[in-house]
Amino acid sequence: MAKSIKKRILEEIEKHDTIILSRHIRPDGDAVGSTLGLAEIIKETYPQKRVFLDNEGRSAEVAFLGDEGERPTDEDYKNALVIVLDCGDADRIANERYNKGEKLIKIDHHLCEEDYGDLSWVEPERSSVCEMIADFYVTFKDKLKITVHAAECLYVGIVLDSGRFRFRGTTEQTMKLAGMLLGMGIDLEKIYANLMTVDFEFIKFRAYLTSKIKLTENGVAYLHISNNMRKRHGMTQEDASNIITLLSNIKGSLIWLLFIENDDKTVRVRLRSRFVEIEPLASRYHGGGHACASGATVYSEEEAKSLIAEADALLSDFKKSHPGLI
Ligand code: AMP
Repeated sequence: MAKSIKKRILEEIEKHDTIILSRHIRPDGDAVGSTLGLAEIIKETYPQKRVFLDNEGRSAEVAFLGDEGERPTDEDYKNALVIVLDCGDADRIANERYNKGEKLIKIDHHLCEEDYGDLSWVEPERSSVCEMIADFYVTFKDKLKITVHAAECLYVGIVLDSGRFRFRGTTEQTMKLAGMLLGMGIDLEKIYANLMTVDFEFIKFRAYLTSKIKLTENGVAYLHISNNMRKRHGMTQEDASNIITLLSNIKGSLIWLLFIENDDKTVRVRLRSRFVEIEPLASRYHGGGHACASGATVYSEEEAKSLIAEADALLSDFKKSHPGLI
């Protein structure tokens, strides 16, 4: 089944002279790596085609992968194939013109209730969309060409979305495909230098926030970052969202929540867990995502409190039925 959908996607790529790639808002390494990586594979294989990326918002964390180039005009959309990567819901696509092309394809790995597009290749059990694009390349490697830079983009997306090969979606296949990309001569030392180092100011922000972490009765860790706190330390929204890792390794705290105030005063919630499935909880608060990594939005303090209480009850039940998990 995956093979036939991949074949149909390749046929659409071959049929269209203009291809436009988009991804989700507030992009992460997988969204950026998969769009840049697939764009480069298409350009390298079919140099006569016009390939664009068209997206709002950038990620400082993976800016080292390069920029997204010139954006397409409205005219370019006529007869274009639009491929949206790493975005489960149409309303989170970082491109208002995503449905202005001739054909729309979705390639994604999120749990989804509602599909969009004329063709949809969704594999929620995959570590990342970058893994799916690496698999797409391998499936058609007699036809497709890849560059070292495209391999680097895909590798970075796999590394980041799999939590450096730790999360549930990491499989033998993930390792094989990552190994294939590594074998192309990518520079791991450079990649990890870019991914692991942070500004000294960020370290101070993290130290300040460490004392603000709270735990519920049953061990849900949570932290609120207001605009005030963030701006006082000269931090961006992306810096604030990277604080999620600060909550991730507390023993017994199998669920952790980061609340980040948006400029419009609504609050973005990042939900993460070990063992416990928190996606259904996120979807009750205007969100969704993956079993153990989801996002949501709350619109008032009461709603934030209610989310924390629900997470606490969920963790309490989970611990009762799974003693011994830390
Ligand atoms: P985040 O904490 O924003 O990195 O989100 C974790 C995962 O959930 C990512 O794969 C997001 O694409 C997804 N996600 C975040 N927010 C939402 C939302 N409101 N609806 C559906 N999926 C989301």
